[in-house]
Amino acid sequence: MYDALTARYSFSCPARGATSVRLSSFRRLERLPGTAHPAVYRVDFSCGCGGEHPGLVTHDDLDWAPLGLGEERPFLNLMTSRLDDAGCELGELSARRLERGSWPWSFFCYPEERPRPVFPSSFALLASERGRGLVGLAVRCPVCGCVSVNLVSEDHVDVPFHNDEAVGVVGHVFAADAADLLAEFRAELDSAAFDARRLLLG
Ligand SMILES: [Zn+2]
Ligand SMILES: [Zn+2]
Repeated sequence: MYDALTARYSFSCPARGATSVRLSSFRRLERLPGTAHPAVYRVDFSCGCGGEHPGLVTHDDLDWAPLGLGEERPFLNLMTSRLDDAGCELGELSARRLERGSWPWSFFCYPEERPRPVFPSSFALLASERGRGLVGLAVRCPVCGCVSVNLVSEDHVDVPFHNDEAVGVVGHVFAADAADLLAEFRAELDSAAFDARRLLLG
């Protein structure tokens, strides 16, 4: 599902058969009710064929696989020596960074007026229609539960431990339910009302 060597998720595409995309090509994430071991997320992703398709991603693949960490990693490591090396080095590097207090992903929580560490499973909506390598990102705050929308670089989403020094923040408290959130997300991205906030964690 997630390939640590290419940092891409593989999905099926009705036009091309198989495809792979980076996390920043995800458009919508929603945890499937009733799934726990493992939790499974339904995602819509923007495909290289020009369409958007649904796919399924486990919690483990969303939050831990990009760090080279996760429950299934030891089994994968036994399959090929190449994956073994990459997985171990990546996992050890990630573990050391986490121990030092670095965060693989972060966002600016608007209601709390502060940056927060986060994992991709808290991402709700993504959009990149601006053609500037930027991503509009709606995050459900794991601490206060409110949704904030940030404007970030693609690397901020795709590359663990790459955190933009400053991000755009929409000065708006977003709806909690999914349908209203999607409508507000699109309206606010179109309005381009972003303020710059520094993302210094610690
Ligand atoms: Zn496709
Ligand atoms: Zn918050």
